[in-house]
Amino acid sequence: MYTGMHGDEDPESHGPSRVMAFATVTLIAVTVTLRLWLWTDRPFTWWLVPTIWALFLAGELAPVSIEFRRESHTFSFSSVPIVIALFYLPPQYLAGARMCASLIALGVVHRQPLYRLVSNLATHLVEVVVAAGMAAILTEHIDIGPKGWLVIMTSVVVGNMCGAITVTAAISIFQRKYEPALLRGLWLGGLSILIDIVLALLIVALARSHQPALWLMAPVVIFIIVLMRQFSAVTARHQHVELLYQLNRSLGEAVLQGDVIPRLLRESVDILHAEAAWLIQLGTDGLVRQLHLDPSGEVAVQTASAFDVAVIDQFRSSDTTILIRGEEVSRVDISTIGHHEAIAASLAVDASRLTALVVADRSGTIRSFDEADVTLLTTLAVHAAVVLRNVDLVDSLRAESERNEELATHDPLTGLPNRTLIHAHLQSLLDRDERLAVMLIDLDRFKEVNDTLGHQNGDLLLIEAGRRMCETVGEGDMIARLGGDEFAVLVRSAADDAELIALAEAIRTSLCQVYELADAEIEIGASVGVSTATAGSSDAATMLRQADVAMYAAKNDHLGVELYTPARDMHSRERLMLVAQLRNAIEQHQLAVHYQPLVDLQTGFVTGAEALVRWPREGAETVMPDEFIYVAENTGLIRPLTQLVLRECISQAAKWFSQGLEIRLSLNLSPRNLLEPDLAAQIAELLRVANLPARLIQLELTESTVMSDPAGTIGILRRLRATGVGLAIDDFGTGHSSLAYLTALPATELKIDKSFVAAMLTDPASRTVVRSIIDLGRNLGLEVLAEGIETPDQYDTLREMGCHLGQGYLFSRALPIGEFDEWLLRQQTARNDAPSLETTR
Ligand code: C2E
Ligand code: CA
Ligand code: CA
Repeated sequence: MYTGMHGDEDPESHGPSRVMAFATVTLIAVTVTLRLWLWTDRPFTWWLVPTIWALFLAGELAPVSIEFRRESHTFSFSSVPIVIALFYLPPQYLAGARMCASLIALGVVHRQPLYRLVSNLATHLVEVVVAAGMAAILTEHIDIGPKGWLVIMTSVVVGNMCGAITVTAAISIFQRKYEPALLRGLWLGGLSILIDIVLALLIVALARSHQPALWLMAPVVIFIIVLMRQFSAVTARHQHVELLYQLNRSLGEAVLQGDVIPRLLRESVDILHAEAAWLIQLGTDGLVRQLHLDPSGEVAVQTASAFDVAVIDQFRSSDTTILIRGEEVSRVDISTIGHHEAIAASLAVDASRLTALVVADRSGTIRSFDEADVTLLTTLAVHAAVVLRNVDLVDSLRAESERNEELATHDPLTGLPNRTLIHAHLQSLLDRDERLAVMLIDLDRFKEVNDTLGHQNGDLLLIEAGRRMCETVGEGDMIARLGGDEFAVLVRSAADDAELIALAEAIRTSLCQVYELADAEIEIGASVGVSTATAGSSDAATMLRQADVAMYAAKNDHLGVELYTPARDMHSRERLMLVAQLRNAIEQHQLAVHYQPLVDLQTGFVTGAEALVRWPREGAETVMPDEFIYVAENTGLIRPLTQLVLRECISQAAKWFSQGLEIRLSLNLSPRNLLEPDLAAQIAELLRVANLPARLIQLELTESTVMSDPAGTIGILRRLRATGVGLAIDDFGTGHSSLAYLTALPATELKIDKSFVAAMLTDPASRTVVRSIIDLGRNLGLEVLAEGIETPDQYDTLREMGCHLGQGYLFSRALPIGEFDEWLLRQQTARNDAPSLETTR
């Protein structure tokens, strides 16, 4: 009987030699004992020797093994020949037959490594010699009666126990430690011995009393063997199911804990009673790697040995599990990797990655791996492959969800956070106590870049824009791309409005730098709207919306940067109140028109004035047009407002005209006014009624108004011009005039935007713009007026450049009509006194 055990791997690997030494000493000692004490010349029937030998051999070659509590118990029925031999053979022949059979079965057939073979021979010899010795001690002559039975039973049991002790000793010496569990399986072996003995005694009794009846024993013996084999198969299967169930559960946990490979290797060692287990993997890079457990239990990866590579090569053509002894399967001798035998199973993880699970050296001392182990490992491999595939699945699901998370919160093009993320971040900061600002940034003319250079270059520009913004903002600030060419910045670093505006300007400046795309230098603009809030006073959605409102204001008015004011916000409460009050002010004729003089730069004469609307409020400061024109334009109030200014201008100009003063009045039109179909007719009628020559009225339209839809507005402009009034293109230089349309427009005047005049003396580019507009006007036969003249230097420069007209604080601010009349009078007196023009500020 053998109790197969597996144990810890010997740390020094001297186990085999120690076992060899122990087994050899035991063998010699037992042989000497046999020779000196039990050797007899008793006569015997010669053919019994080969019969006993054959029985031993059969038992050894076709043992029945039963797995019990993770231990395998192998029954070789060796007690049957022992019992028979104790009756009929001298002990030295019993021992000889036993040794011969074991040598052939274990050494030749099973090819056990030498240390195992020797220790097994020692065990078997101990079994038979102790049994024979015990019988010799108990009685001189064994008879067939109950007394003889008792002697036999005692002898064989004691012999077997001594054999078991020898095995245990060998294993303990191998492992360098004794495990009590080693002897625990003994009782199961004891049970089988009793059956063996009873069977053998029956055979002997029959042989004595009625030899032919022995034939009747044959079917009984065969039946018992079949039964045991059946039982063994059932228990093995049951055992496998249980092991695999445990394996699955353990690996299932491992998937969650992320230690699948260590567990798989440990379980493989356990289940197959192996001394080592490792994985061999053929990577997608074509390299073969070995994964094994290092002494601390961690997975270690190393380059595969020649043996590993041979195993993987084998699995390239077939995935049948292989039992490897010597070099018959792998072509590389297994002893080169320090093992005697191994089983390798292919793990079908995925087609591109060949993986093999290898277990080596059945631990314990006697049994080698057999077909049952091959089947077991194959099954184990199938389960492990499923788990490993699940690990891949779990990993890819995890990666997928991370990707989704990234996609859900980031813009894939620029990698910046998206609207969802900045919204959430903003809200979470607002829930704390902080002063925050949100900037909304919209690129101007981005669509043109996209249309002319293609989306690919448009994408590159957006990426570059994102990068520039990241460089400009502070550390705690967050930049997001909201979509298209719209970005947002969450600012935590600015202390006050001045700092905020400075930051916004810096962002704008960085965005307006040249972009090198498709071998061209591209320039774009940007408009920034800013909203601010302190914790608890607002929420993320409101802040973003307010920044949006401010951004539109900045875009419409070409301001670059604009802080949010409720007046410009369609949805604020303040704005609703403002609309009601403005409507009331218009109805009650509370709006005032102020006049700002327009001066001939060459002569210094006042030739006209621009009408600029004001909203004086009782008990409050006068509201400037920037704060309410936008509201009027978006509520339909712009029509009555324009009517008011128009009537006022015509009546004022008519009054001057009747006094002999030819002062041309310019008034501003909004884009909305161009949608009124009767505007031209109405102007003509008002002029007729007032008896005012049309040349004394001029209409101003901004360049962006005209150029946003040149084809659409040109008809209306022609009709307006047909009434005889002048047409000025206001804020010229800030929009994008196409020269083709400009020549077709019925304009009479270009008004150079004040931003160019302001920068003209310090910025050569602005100076060039001013000069070009003056040249353009001269070439197209248009009058050119420069706005925003504040200094004498600007005045002189513009005059030298040949600019016709000027307007600005240098001459006068916009004045109420009474003050304007007085100013005019003073001018005339001054002119009469001296040739130079008096300027007031
Ligand atoms: P605008 O048509 O460009 O008018 C010129 C603006 O420049 C006026 O601002 C004027 O006061 C200001 N300005 C004049 N000289 C100087 C100077 O030397 N330096 C500086 N920095 N500014 C100067 P205001 O009166 O605040 O008007 C602002 C805008 O409101 C006007 O710009 C015009 O677009 C609009 N607006 C004014 N009145 C009306 C109106 O009756 N109807 C319409 N639709 N828009 C109007
Ligand atoms: Ca104007
Ligand atoms: Ca202007």
